[in-house]
Amino acid sequence: MAITDGFAGAIGRTPLIRLHRLSDETGCEILGKAEFMNPGGSVKDRAALYIIRDAEQRGELRAGGTVVEGTAGNTGIGLAHLCNARGYRCVIVIPETQTREKIDLLRTLGAEVHTVPAKPYRDPNNYQKVAGRMAEEMDNAIWANQFDNVANRDGHYLTTGPELWDDTDGGLDAFVAATGTGGTLAGVARYLKEQSPAVRTVLADPKGSALYRYVKTGQPEVEGEGSITEGIGSTRVTANLEGTPIDDAWSIPDQEAVTMVYRLLHEEGLFLGSSCGINVAAAVRVARDLGPGHTVATILCDGGGRYYSRLFNPDWLQEKGLRAGP
Ligand code: PMP
Repeated sequence: MAITDGFAGAIGRTPLIRLHRLSDETGCEILGKAEFMNPGGSVKDRAALYIIRDAEQRGELRAGGTVVEGTAGNTGIGLAHLCNARGYRCVIVIPETQTREKIDLLRTLGAEVHTVPAKPYRDPNNYQKVAGRMAEEMDNAIWANQFDNVANRDGHYLTTGPELWDDTDGGLDAFVAATGTGGTLAGVARYLKEQSPAVRTVLADPKGSALYRYVKTGQPEVEGEGSITEGIGSTRVTANLEGTPIDDAWSIPDQEAVTMVYRLLHEEGLFLGSSCGINVAAAVRVARDLGPGHTVATILCDGGGRYYSRLFNPDWLQEKGLRAGP
């Protein structure tokens, strides 16, 4: 292993893991990119790095500056680590409905955390808009704006996409991912389509999100009642997602995702978060759709340790009408 240049140098070049049981069952190669192995523990380390680097290169963020973001979790964690490593102050605005663990972790990492009442996106006091206003009032500060700042997508176009293509020797038939900001799917899909337009790009969507219908009909419209998954699903098309070549979409029920999370734990030894359940369940559907002999890759976004009190708490699952088994 080559020596990396600090925290930022350790982001990316994550392993691509063959999921044995699911591959054998489908006759396809089902591959999960181990983004939980990034140094901040999630796929969002890449977005955090490219957003900060872009602001530095444009001269908007200078020594001793401040990074402000409205985030419910992983992006804030990535930003907090990077701010420590680069000598910036990190200010996070988070809806008070988020789990205690996430808020505590952000504070432990040294971020200044402001909790605000949960408001819909159209409300001027929505947490993302509060973050934008806070940054505007500070000197030498940026609003990371992960949803509409396309430096997020660029990070995946420049790193995640090429890694997937190179690690499969250009033999990838389909790429499947759920989206929160859209950065991962947008960046990777753009890169892969440039290598070969035959690569199928597929959205995996939780219930309660409007993007499944957006892909199917061109109009974002909520499908289903909502989801226990975190960090994914959206009711709007962000600037990052806009214009992405997406061939198909699957809307995945929570039970299918939860069953998959527990299968991955017990059959593959992979302890993963809820969005991985949506992603892998959708990858299996795509594999069955394509038939045996195809290679399908998806993203293993974060680890299960962030979900002890919910996804891995049997009482909580039962309250939600969900079970760990099939
Ligand atoms: N899974 C998890 C756990 C996440 O936190 C996120 C980001 N919110 C995603 C998936 C989706 O990534 P992106 O923002 O690149 O669409």
